[in-house]
Amino acid sequence: MRKKIVAGNWKMNTTLPEAKELAIAVAEKSAQVPASVGLIVAPPFVNLNCVGHKLEGSRVELSAQNCADHTSGAYTGEVSADMIKAVGCKWTILGHSERRQYYGETDEKLVVKTRLALEAGLGVILCVGENLDEREAGKHFDVVTGQTKAVLYNFTAEDMKNIVIAYEPVWAIGTGKTATAEQAEEIHACIRRVIADKFGAAVADDMTILYGGSCKPSNAKELFAQPDIDGGLIGGAALKADDFIQIALSF
Ligand code: PEP
Repeated sequence: MRKKIVAGNWKMNTTLPEAKELAIAVAEKSAQVPASVGLIVAPPFVNLNCVGHKLEGSRVELSAQNCADHTSGAYTGEVSADMIKAVGCKWTILGHSERRQYYGETDEKLVVKTRLALEAGLGVILCVGENLDEREAGKHFDVVTGQTKAVLYNFTAEDMKNIVIAYEPVWAIGTGKTATAEQAEEIHACIRRVIADKFGAAVADDMTILYGGSCKPSNAKELFAQPDIDGGLIGGAALKADDFIQIALSF
């Protein structure tokens, strides 16, 4: 059975004291969440070490929000997959729409980053999703299918065991506008078919596909009730421990 996951993307939020406080609260409250639901938090790089310590003894796993497209060397300001692994991360998010939009993250770069992350022993949460113009033009299925294939078709069925996909319609991120459960489900089912086409039905069945985009305690239940939605990648609501845990209790 595929794993259910709720992951919190803290983005460029939390100073060190704020990150400590949030990590302690999430760790404490995580005991309420059934073991069948994986919990992940992704603080800013600079707070990973400290947050990792605060999570010790809890089942909350640590993730980075990005990793470099090189292993080491003269790449000022970058953080490698090995560094992320060594600080205690099990995961890295890759291809978040904010990185695609503001930092020129291309599918080609994401192939390299995904490879390096997997080689370092990290799991990858790969984000895909259409923007508003693409949705309004009726191109959402094509865009998401294209992004999924462009990255994941370069990998193997074995690699898929360490990859989670997050469908995040860009128009729903941080806008308060959530995709309806039906809109999200039809794209999730499409992504699962794209995975099945290349890697077979068993691999697709095992693939965890998260929804992200203004997911909150009030809408998580309806979204998570859909057959192809296996949890959420949570932005704003992950900055409040109570809301994050409430979402994780929505299965
Ligand atoms: C995100 O950026 O991954 C996200 C889903 O953000 P929000 O929940 O704030 O829309």
